[in-house]
Amino acid sequence: MSILKVARIGHPVLRAAASEVREEVLATPAFQKLIDDMRETMYEYEGVGLAAPQVHEGLRFAVLEVPASDGRAEAEVPFTVLVNPVVTPLGPEKQVGWEGCLSIPDLRGAVPRFTRVRLDALDRDGRPFSVDAQGFFARVIQHECDHLEGGVYLDRMADMRSLSFIKEFEDHVAPAEHEHED
Ligand SMILES: [Zn+2]
Repeated sequence: MSILKVARIGHPVLRAAASEVREEVLATPAFQKLIDDMRETMYEYEGVGLAAPQVHEGLRFAVLEVPASDGRAEAEVPFTVLVNPVVTPLGPEKQVGWEGCLSIPDLRGAVPRFTRVRLDALDRDGRPFSVDAQGFFARVIQHECDHLEGGVYLDRMADMRSLSFIKEFEDHVAPAEHEHED
């Protein structure tokens, strides 16, 4: 397996709509290796998701995994491959939460997302699956699927003033939020 080079914002691949993955492509060893390499790359950079355009591949698929140790998550999400995903909001409710992106290093921003969504996609073997997701899992799905449309989380921020470097976020924003929770 290989660690892939991650495209950073400013590279046009991140702003282009990706193409459907065709069934005959899905079955190829090259595509299956790309999935494994994306998994390895996501672990290397400690992301919870990675979309194909982020590794310079203009195809509609992404990988995600939320470990139990992630403080933002209500529940662990096992490694999941989303091929040709379709996301449907389940209700109008949105939640504001913090996001970062491997293509926008060192930054965090507060982003409103649908609280509950349905995901319909194919798995890595081309089998259709669907899942109802909420909270942080729903957020990761929406973040990754935006990448397939040429979107990044900055586009979804309601107020750019929350944008912070991670260090300043941890020094100032996160402690202030904990005070509010108490
Ligand atoms: Zn991202």
